[in-house]
This record gives sequence, structure tokens and C-alpha cells, in this order.
Amino acid sequence: MKYENVDFNTYFKTYPDKNGYFGKYGGSFIQPELQAAMDEITEAYMTIAQSRRFIAELRRIRREFQGRPTPVSHLERLSGKLGNVQLYVKREDLNHTGAHKLNHCMGEVLLAKYMGKKKVIAETGAGQHGVALATAAAYFGLECDIYMGSVDIKKQAPNVARMKILGANVVEVTHGLQTLKEAVDAAFAAYSKEYKDAIYCIGSVVGPHPFPMMVRDFQSVVGEEAREQFVEMTGHLPDAIVACVGGGSNAAGFFSGFLNDPVDIYGIEPLGRGEELGEHAASLKYGTEGVMHGFNSIMLKDENGDPAPVYSVASGLDYPSSGPEHAFLRDIGRVKYDVINDEETIDAFFELSRMEGIIPAIESAHAVAYGMKLAKQMKRGSVLINLSGRGDKDMDYIIENYGIR
Ligand SMILES: *Cc1c(COP(=O)(O)O)cnc(C)c1O
Repeated sequence: MKYENVDFNTYFKTYPDKNGYFGKYGGSFIQPELQAAMDEITEAYMTIAQSRRFIAELRRIRREFQGRPTPVSHLERLSGKLGNVQLYVKREDLNHTGAHKLNHCMGEVLLAKYMGKKKVIAETGAGQHGVALATAAAYFGLECDIYMGSVDIKKQAPNVARMKILGANVVEVTHGLQTLKEAVDAAFAAYSKEYKDAIYCIGSVVGPHPFPMMVRDFQSVVGEEAREQFVEMTGHLPDAIVACVGGGSNAAGFFSGFLNDPVDIYGIEPLGRGEELGEHAASLKYGTEGVMHGFNSIMLKDENGDPAPVYSVASGLDYPSSGPEHAFLRDIGRVKYDVINDEETIDAFFELSRMEGIIPAIESAHAVAYGMKLAKQMKRGSVLINLSGRGDKDMDYIIENYGIR
């Protein structure tokens, strides 16, 4: 299948290119000292991670520790309520730790171990990436330093506790606004001093090359499983698939299984409280091209051209850019990116819980809300939604802000 001049039969051999570009997006925009460290990771990824031994070990871990394959579930009652379209969900909420993030963390830390590193370093905002990475580090017996702003440490006390229980060292970042941006800077600064013994582990398909490629590849297990399971269940492909997009890792892995199929693909960004800058985090819809955090993509900028403040009810989606591959897939028209606001998300959160007995993460509820919209528009056919995570982490927030509906 072809879109513009992009042939999806050979897509994964061609994109990204050897410098990490998906068309004009991607690349590596970092200090020269760190470029050597990135080159080392790229080299290791292209050799070690493609070896039979590595692939077999990761496959075994996914089965025996992570609980993969996760199932695909038919949402029979919800579909019936909406009309004739059949909705299905890929259950990443049932992956160990309750979300898709562990898929790439296990891959990244296994690679670190093969490279002989002793420590993994990362930053975290809401704490989900920190918990997944701390889990992987505990499993493989590596040290784990998680940089986190003081403000976030106070807000995310349960995740801070989880990281500590898992043996991670949570490093408090006390300068500036004391949130994610400062944590990123501090993590990078530490990494530039420690890169001989440590490896930086990014939390999504963002950052300099090779991370957007590597994280997508580690997440592609989601799309591969989902396609095979769906076809086995129904005898055909879904008409449409949907995933939420923050940085874009769950979407990138899920979409990768269907890019060469006659399937409509939708990536859903958070519209938050509305279209005004600062009220949403829909970078692919409202953003412009620019460089941040080491890569070129579409981003939301303030008047100075710096990353703009963003907002979403889902803390995992409030990032002012998206991975370069999403910007590319948008431009060539292969994936349609659309938005869902806070209200629609909360409705879908309760609807899925009540009708199906599945409490979704607020992030994932964006994709569910869009799948429900499609079901009303399409009249017949089937839609497969990636349920990126479970909602246990969101209980307190929901009760406090929305009560029980
Ligand atoms: C972190 C997170 C996301 C957003 O990250 P992506 O890289 O866009 O996938 C989505 N859903 C859940 C449950 C998350 O924890």
C-alpha cells in the first residue's frame, strides 16, 4: 500500500533513515558530548537488539513476566447500546504494571544489560514512566535514578512510593518550576556525566535518534498481537483502529501492525478544556514545526518559540509535541489525527466502566471516546481501540473532581 511516495510494504526498512529521519522529522539535536552516547546506543540497538539471543530473551520475558500476549476483548454491551458497529479493545491495561509503558522499558533495560551498563536514568512527570522503568530495573538488577520535580513529587506521592519500594533512587529537582521540564534538564545533565556506566531511557517515541525508532519497535508487539488476535476472532481486519497520542508510544506500536492494511487509523490528542493555547495538548492539530528535547517535530510554542504550557485531564498526554513519526504519518495522510476533550473523556471513562467492567486510564479513555463517536457515525463495521492502561491510578482524581456519575 502507498501513500504519496511512501510504500508501506518496505516501510520499516526505510523509516526512519540512518540518521533517524521520518521525512523531515526526527534527527538528533543535542550537545556533541551526548551525541557519542546516542551513537553507542544506536550501534548497540542495530546489532545486539537484532540478535537471535536478545529477541528470544525479550520474547520469553514478555510471556513469563509481563503476561503477554494481552487479550483483545469484544465490547458487546457497549457496542449494542451505540448501534451496529462492533467495538473491540486491545487490553494493555492487563500488561504487568497496568499499562503499555513496560513494553519499551523492558526492551530498553535489557539492552542496557547487554551493553554492560550498571544504571538507568530517566525523568518522570506524572510518575508512570518512572514506575515502569523502576520495575524493569528491579527485574534486571540495575540501579535506577529517576529525576522528578519537587512539585510533581508532592502531587504524585503514590507513584513516588512505588518507585522507592521498587528500589529506585528518586532525585528531587528543586530549580525553576520544579516540574517535568526541569526534570528533563537535570536527567540529561546527569547522563552527560555518567554515560559510560549509565543509559538514558526515554518514556515515549520522542527525543533524539534512536529513541523514536527503538521505542516504536519495542512497542510493535502490541500491534502484531492485536492484528493476529483480531483476525483470529472475527475472520477479518477491523475497519478502523484508534489510539490516544501523548508522546505517541502506545499509538506508534499499535499502528505499526496495521500500516500496510486497508484500515483507517486514528490518533487522538487531548483537547482538554478547549482550543486556546494552554488549554489543550493537541500538538499535531494546532502546532508548528520546531525542535525540542533533541528532535524535530510538530510542537506547541509560546510567543518566544519555546515549548508552550499544555493541559489535559490526562497527565500522561500533556506533552507539547509528539513523536516525529506521527508528524510524518500525519503529513502523508496515512493516519488521521483528531481530538477529544476532557468532558467526552470522562463520559467514556464511566461508560466503559459501567457497560463492560473495565476501568480505563484517563489517557486511554480519550481513544475509547473517539471509538464511540466512530461507532455512531459508521453505522456498520468494526473498530479496534488500544486500551493503553488501567484506571486505578486515576481513582482519587476522578472522585475528587467528578464524583461518581
Ligand atoms: C503514558 C501513558 C500514555 C501516553 O503515552 P504515549 O507515549 O503517547 O503512549 C497513554 N496511556 C497511558 C495509560 C499512559 O500511562
